[in-house]
Amino acid sequence: MDFCLRNKDMTFPISQLDQSVGVAGQPPHDEAEDWTSRHGAELYGIREWGAGYFDVNEAGEVTVVATINGKKISVSLTDIVEGMRERGMEMPVVLRVENLLDDRIRTLNEAFAKAIRDAGYRNVYRGVFPIKVNQQCHVIEEIANFGARFHHGLEAGSKAELLIALSHIQDQESLIICNGYKDSEFIEMGLYAVQMGLKCFFVVETLAEVPIIIERSRTMGVKPLIGVRLKLSTKVDGHWAEDSGDQSLFGLTPSQLIDVVDALKAADMLDSLQLLHTHLGSQIPNIRNIRSGVLEACRYYCSLVEEGAAMGYLDLGGGLAVDYDGTKSSSTHSMNYSISEYCADIVEAVLETLDSNDIPHPVIITESGRATVAYSSLLLFNILDVRQSERVELPKTLPDDTHELIANLKSVLENARVENLQECFNDAVYYRDEIAELFRHGQLGLRERALGDMYHRAVLTKIARLLPAARRVSQELEVLPELLCDIYYGNFSVFQSLPDTWAIDQLLPIMPIRRLDEQPDRQAILADLTCDCDGKIDHFANPNGPLRTLSLHPLVEGEEYHLAVFLVGAYQETLGDLHNLFGDTNVVSVRIHEEGGFEFAREFRGDCIFDVLSYVEYHPQNLLEKFRRTAEKAVQQGQISASVRKSVVDAFSASLNGYTYFER
Ligand SMILES: *Cc1c(COP(=O)(O)O)cnc(C)c1O
Repeated sequence: MDFCLRNKDMTFPISQLDQSVGVAGQPPHDEAEDWTSRHGAELYGIREWGAGYFDVNEAGEVTVVATINGKKISVSLTDIVEGMRERGMEMPVVLRVENLLDDRIRTLNEAFAKAIRDAGYRNVYRGVFPIKVNQQCHVIEEIANFGARFHHGLEAGSKAELLIALSHIQDQESLIICNGYKDSEFIEMGLYAVQMGLKCFFVVETLAEVPIIIERSRTMGVKPLIGVRLKLSTKVDGHWAEDSGDQSLFGLTPSQLIDVVDALKAADMLDSLQLLHTHLGSQIPNIRNIRSGVLEACRYYCSLVEEGAAMGYLDLGGGLAVDYDGTKSSSTHSMNYSISEYCADIVEAVLETLDSNDIPHPVIITESGRATVAYSSLLLFNILDVRQSERVELPKTLPDDTHELIANLKSVLENARVENLQECFNDAVYYRDEIAELFRHGQLGLRERALGDMYHRAVLTKIARLLPAARRVSQELEVLPELLCDIYYGNFSVFQSLPDTWAIDQLLPIMPIRRLDEQPDRQAILADLTCDCDGKIDHFANPNGPLRTLSLHPLVEGEEYHLAVFLVGAYQETLGDLHNLFGDTNVVSVRIHEEGGFEFAREFRGDCIFDVLSYVEYHPQNLLEKFRRTAEKAVQQGQISASVRKSVVDAFSASLNGYTYFER
């Protein structure tokens, strides 16, 4: 049952459901036991999806945990937010934790190194980070700097990304992998890189690229490094299941592969063909799919060797998943394997296939994007307002001339019992609709209409409260508790900061950053600042299965209530858009120190209104000019004084330089 937040007629505020009702998602909690931080941690499942990077401390605050030289250092998010406040950083903020990014790169490289040692594999692993997953300058710089010790390279899917890669990779052991469509400018740039000694591969995605590569490299006198991207028939589970296998948009078919081989052979360039590339899709939840994909890729690899290609590199693309909901399952938002299992499975499958064909082991490449950056960023925002469900204040008695329909609703309310819930629901809806009909025809006034609505809401509230005791419940009743929950208005834009929650129903862990030693007794959905029905979050990741509402605490007067959305480092930052002209948020990078504590390593101010207006082709100076004229006209007409005009124009000008989000 979908409903629009902005359409006030269709949302039903109701009474808070007391704990005895059993709130969705609450783990069994013995009432006699005091609620502690541990219960808070369990409720939101932070230890399940947090991968050891996030936890809750004794004081009920969410902490970020960095491992430095084997020591675990915890820093409270509340302290970081306080640091932001002191530095004048307004919410919402994307927080990046550099240590976590480093740790992910280390974990992936060490896991492959271990799998290679354990299996006796006779070559190395080289990771590349696909730039499209998070192109932000500082993320790429950190990956390039920290990754250099593992010769971690970059993957580029466009000319712009190639320029980023070329300016960040100096190490001749690290790889630059070029996917995507390549024109001659792209190819020239890559050939210059090869000339300078960089390992820059062109992965052929279409036949049309081959003659350009042959022609350009001959003219420039550079021997290119060439790869071929194959479309695998292996299908994968998860969100992109439909686009996998033979339906995949990308890669060469077997017959196109033969054409590429023949073209290179004819040009006497088969020794340049050194890499096979496959990419099954992103967020592959099921390890079995990965294993089948690797086996299929190995078959192609062996065939290319038989065809006489030089080979030496096997690139298995992305797909390493993130356990967003902490279920450790093969469901779309999760994964049924660990990183070590992923690495061991790949290494063993390659080793077995190639050994049985007597072919030397290639360098194994993967292009993990999501799994590398998801953990290192989180979105922080404050709650601006709450629409509480239970604010229904009914009159003690009804006046004698009250319309019969309202009196009927009142008696439905009084007579509602566990045994007649469905009947009461039907009656309440019927009377409410009748009242609305009479109002439409001018036979009832606004006050009566409002009173009718209040009784209707009160009936639904009572039904929701009695539901758990009912034996059989219809679907329309079952969803009542969710329809009747609170709405927490957050200072953020789903479209700018969490586009995948809107576009592909991505589930992300969301929770308050403090008060976890206090039992949250509200059930809520989140609404953002945009004036859009889709600007909401009403599905929540949880290790016990997805939830339609989120448990939250009531706001405390004079105190900010901050929520964090975790695991947002992959894909969210540049896929976002300017809906309602909410721009980029502030970004802060922190580095946690070995002695404890942290520093604000970098900050980027988000867009101001001036910026977003220029993105949509306004000239803010002209707007100011026009507004000055409007104000002058008001002075001429005697509506404001010249000094008020100054204040008005100053305010307009200050607004242009202000943050696009709600400022306290
Ligand atoms: C998007 C993409 C990736 C990244 O995939 P993840 O699942 O995020 O690791 C890797 N390689 C190619 C070719 C891609 O298009």
